[in-house]
Amino acid sequence: MKTADAVIVGGGCVGTSALFHLAALGTTNTVLLEASSLGSGSTSKAAGGIRMQHDDVVNTRLALRSLQEFTRFEQLTGTPIDFKQVGYLFLLDNDHDFAAFTRAAAAQRELGIPTEILSIDAVREMVPQIYVEDVVGATFCPWEGFAAPEAVVQGYASAARRLGAEIRVGSLVVEILTDGAGVSGVRLEGETISTRSVVIAAGVGSADLARPLGFELPVHGEARTIFYSSQALGVPQSAPLVVDFSTGFYFHREGAGLVFAGRQSDPAELSEPATHRLPAIAEASIESSWWGYYEMSPDHNAMIGQAPVAGLHYATGFSGHGFMQSPAVGEYLAETVRGESTTLDLSSMTADRFVSGQHRTESFVI
Ligand SMILES: Cc1cc2nc3c(=O)[nH]c(=O)nc-3n(C[C@H](O)[C@H](O)[C@H](O)COP(=O)(O)OP(=O)(O)OC[C@H]3O[C@@H](n4cnc5c(N)ncnc54)[C@H](O)[C@@H]3O)c2cc1C
Repeated sequence: MKTADAVIVGGGCVGTSALFHLAALGTTNTVLLEASSLGSGSTSKAAGGIRMQHDDVVNTRLALRSLQEFTRFEQLTGTPIDFKQVGYLFLLDNDHDFAAFTRAAAAQRELGIPTEILSIDAVREMVPQIYVEDVVGATFCPWEGFAAPEAVVQGYASAARRLGAEIRVGSLVVEILTDGAGVSGVRLEGETISTRSVVIAAGVGSADLARPLGFELPVHGEARTIFYSSQALGVPQSAPLVVDFSTGFYFHREGAGLVFAGRQSDPAELSEPATHRLPAIAEASIESSWWGYYEMSPDHNAMIGQAPVAGLHYATGFSGHGFMQSPAVGEYLAETVRGESTTLDLSSMTADRFVSGQHRTESFVI
């Protein structure tokens, strides 16, 4: 029977980040088990957005720590991730939302993040194609942008392999095993791996792995679709990722065209908020689309921590912002698996907040 110092379940951005950070810290007798192929879960469906603007300061700290890694990712892993640091532009169409984003911007500036409040004229100048007549206010942070999630997964995976970690794809974990001392291993079809540390980073599959151990991870999948049009509609190449916050409609330049999405998966339903904010989109044809699961938690914040079973760690329920947090979350998981003090304090993110009633709601969910 194989014995590992740690087993990671799930080969998305979070699992591969944890594997890489463990290896970088010197723990290389590790195995990552992925049921399908690397990145095949929510990660490969993500828009790749990386943003600092959150209303929960823990999310901003996670994003900031992650940004430090995204900006030197190629240097760290050898893999380019096509990070386009064009900023996020949030359009707010009511006083309540504008006040919330203004408060959050002040908190971000206290952390050294240059989030600014933009005038409507500045918005017009940035993206002249946007309808701004009903916009009450806007915020913009130039450090934000988007990168390629598959490249991040491949970068972490290949760097971890080079350091000695093992990755197995097509390897479904059927059960996490325990004994009197806590976690004792994982069972695959036809094989058992012995270990005292398991990290559940299985996206929407995480709940099914935890439940048999008497531990609830309340995560559920919410289907989200993204569309691509090869027509850029005059939107400048330098345009930020634009978010119409109240409707959730967003778009950004992608190659010669535009990527856009919203809360509606049916293009006919999306067309109303989309044509309102970007009237020219009525002329666009959709060349392709894809969908995946937002892995939702009850308060739209991630669940990250150690389970009541000794040696069992988890990170799931990112509610649509797991890609941008994956570097810092992987680092945190690696530190806790190794029993070290952690770079960030994520003690408020544990899943037992849903039992104790201490929800911490993130409301800037796109
Ligand atoms: C349309 C869309 C747009 C998004 N846009 C953004 C964005 O702009 N920015 C952002 O930060 N986030 C975004 N997200 C969210 C982001 O994709 C996720 O939060 C993130 O990818 C979660 O990564 P993960 O590694 O935890 O999960 P996943 O990528 O889902 O990886 C989990 C892996 O675990 C594997 N697995 C499950 N069960 C088992 C098992 N029993 N044994 C072995 N393997 C198992 C799965 O096959 C899967 O590959 C978006 C999501 C969607 C769907």
